[in-house]
Amino acid sequence: MTADLPCQELVELVTDYLDGALAPELVARIDAHLVDCPGCHSFLDQMRATLRLLGRLPADEVEQMPAAMRAALLEAYRST
Ligand SMILES: [Zn+2]
Repeated sequence: MTADLPCQELVELVTDYLDGALAPELVARIDAHLVDCPGCHSFLDQMRATLRLLGRLPADEVEQMPAAMRAALLEAYRST
């Protein structure tokens, strides 16, 4: 039931999702995806924890780290 929103797309949107920067219908699609996808659910938990940590870091690191995490995760999806 995750075909409506591919995992890769969710990964790309997750920081905006956590920022509350997405349109409501996109948030609803992500929420629906998370119900059916334990992998993305735990990724979101990790991302949320990471962003909390990043709140205490310099701004340039905050910029780079979510992007690096996304890149690593997209790499992991590609290799499966
Ligand atoms: Zn997923």
